[in-house]
Amino acid sequence: MLQFSNYLLADSLDSAYNELVKNKKNIILGGTSYLRMGDTQFNTAIDLSNLSLSYINEARDFLHIGAMTSFRDLEVNPILKSHFSGIISKCVENILGVQFRNNVTVGATVFSKYGFSDLIPVLLALETTVVLQGGGEIELEDFLKEDTIRRDILVEIKIKKSNSIGNFQTIRRTKSDYAVLNLVLTKNSENKFKIAVGARPGKAVLAKKTMDILNSTQEISDTLFETLSNEIVFESNMRASEEYRRAICKVMLKRALQEVL
Ligand SMILES: Cc1cc2nc3c(=O)[nH]c(=O)nc-3n(C[C@H](O)[C@H](O)[C@H](O)COP(=O)(O)OP(=O)(O)OC[C@H]3O[C@@H](n4cnc5c(N)ncnc54)[C@H](O)[C@@H]3O)c2cc1C
Repeated sequence: MLQFSNYLLADSLDSAYNELVKNKKNIILGGTSYLRMGDTQFNTAIDLSNLSLSYINEARDFLHIGAMTSFRDLEVNPILKSHFSGIISKCVENILGVQFRNNVTVGATVFSKYGFSDLIPVLLALETTVVLQGGGEIELEDFLKEDTIRRDILVEIKIKKSNSIGNFQTIRRTKSDYAVLNLVLTKNSENKFKIAVGARPGKAVLAKKTMDILNSTQEISDTLFETLSNEIVFESNMRASEEYRRAICKVMLKRALQEVL
């Protein structure tokens, strides 16, 4: 059960951040779906819901998604459906039920860097930065590489607009379980590809060597699939073995290429 001694309905990002850094046991509340599964006693729970951070805006060069935006908003938003073949909407549309997706937030998901996340590999395969109260703006890829969890607040994510198209592949044992493996392929208007692999089960990573081969040869070959399965670090967990993940990543890439080419 989620427990806390004090509650702060923040009236500004500054006050939320100042409260957060006062005590190691202070926390930011997202939709609390994940927090409620734990059993930790927190000091002050900081609520961002009065800070107008639930938005999806299209500007000239970027899409801006606020931290308190729900997965349901990602799923149904017409702006997101009209960019990148709608992969941002598609990657969340099957996560549990509508009630759940109405509750969980983008900020909590990206900030927590969950390995099993369906959203993070999609954002990684696009040009995404995270805007942090405390830490400024950094590339999502660099943020994910950090091993420590910062004492910051994720304010929004920014995605560079482009004509990229993409495909999201996921394999799950049952529809409502976490993914066994996620793979995202994007292709921009200059035929440059990006490949992100998540639920390895570790945090999502870019398959840089495979991307280099694909971008230089523009050919689908066995070398491509072998390179992917060798370069990504897979591990075993209760959902699948390392060997199984290594085997299916090739099929997933093949399927994604068929959709994107
Ligand atoms: C039963 C269950 C099944 C799930 N299945 C899937 C799945 O199949 N696929 C998938 O992709 N995801 C899945 N998720 C994860 C889910 O999509 C969310 O990523 C997760 O619940 C966190 O979102 P939340 O809003 O509930 O966060 P919370 O529980 O509110 O917070 C989680 C953490 O993030 C911190 N936090 C919250 N907001 C911010 C912020 N703005 N800045 C900094 N820190 C912040 C909190 O302090 C806390 O440490 C599942 C979660 C649950 C509980």
